[in-house]
Amino acid sequence: MPAATINHHPLPESGSVPAAARGGAALAGAATVAGPLSVPLDFVGNGLVSLYMSSRAGGLAIDVNLNPDGRCNFNCAYCAVDRSQLSREPVVDVDRLARELRELLALVHSDRIQQQAGFQNLPPELRRLRMVALSGDGEPTLSPVFCEAVETVVHVRALGGWPFFKLVLVTNASALDQPRVQQGLQHFTRQDEIWAKLDAGTQAFFERFNRASDTLEHVLRNILLVAKERPVVIQSLFARMRGQNPPASEVLEYIARLQELQAAGAQISSVQIYSANQPTPNAECTHLSLPALSGIARQVRTATGLRVTVH
Ligand code: SF4
Repeated sequence: MPAATINHHPLPESGSVPAAARGGAALAGAATVAGPLSVPLDFVGNGLVSLYMSSRAGGLAIDVNLNPDGRCNFNCAYCAVDRSQLSREPVVDVDRLARELRELLALVHSDRIQQQAGFQNLPPELRRLRMVALSGDGEPTLSPVFCEAVETVVHVRALGGWPFFKLVLVTNASALDQPRVQQGLQHFTRQDEIWAKLDAGTQAFFERFNRASDTLEHVLRNILLVAKERPVVIQSLFARMRGQNPPASEVLEYIARLQELQAAGAQISSVQIYSANQPTPNAECTHLSLPALSGIARQVRTATGLRVTVH
C-alpha cells in the first residue's frame, strides 16, 4: 500500500500522527521512519490508526491497520514493511479500533490538529479529512476480522457526530471473491471506494514483481468482480529493478489488461501511477523517475481514455 507510497496501503506521504500520540505517549515497539518532513511515523506500534497527509486523497487521511502482524499473501519486490519488527498480535481488537478511531476523528475535527508536528500551518483545504483507509502492514482483506472491522468503522461513522468521511479499501485484490470479504463490502455505500493493486500485465512479471502464490488472472477476475458493482481505483506501482526501467513490452501488456477489464464491463474511476519512494529492504528495487512515470501515465491515458494521476 501506504506512500510516500510504496505499499498498496497508503503509507504516509507526509507527517503522521498515530492515535496514541495524542497525549504524547511513546508507542512501545513503534518504528520511526524519516518522511519528507522528517516527522516520526508510526505504523507498527500499538496504534491501529494513523493520520497522514495524502496527495492521492488530496488532504488528510486516516489509515486503519488491519494487519499489525504483517500478514500478506504477496511479497512485492518494493514492499517496505519490515516484518521482523511487526506486532505479533494476530487479530485486531475491533473495540480498540473503534476507540482509537473516535479519538483520532475528534483530534482531526478540533484545533489541536494544528499543534501536531508535521501538521502545523496547513491551509484549510488540506486540513479536511478526505478518507479513512482500511489498510495495513499486510493485506487487509486477509484479516480474520475484516467484516467486523468494516462494520465497526461504518458504525463509528454513523454515530460519531463528525462530518461524513469516505471509506477506502486498499487491497491487492487477491481475496475480493471471498464470501467474508464480500460480506464486509456490503456495508460500503456508493461514496466508499476500493483501490485495487495492479502492477503487472503478464503472469511472468507478476511472479517477479509481486512474488505472490496467486495468479494475475485471479487478481484480474477479482477486480472485474467488484468493478462491475462499483467504480474502482486502480493503483499501479512502477519501479526500477536492478537499475532497469520497466520493460516497454510489460507496460503495453499492463495497458492491454486494463483495456480487457474495460471491455468486460469494469468501471474504473481512475488509475493512480506511482513508484517506490522510500528506501525498500530490497536494494534491487528503486524509484522510477517522474518523467518515466508520466510517460507511462500518458500511454495509459491515450490507450484507455481513463483518468490517470501520477503520485
Ligand atoms: S507485499 Fe503485501 S503489504 Fe507489501 S506491498 Fe505487496 S501487497 Fe502490500
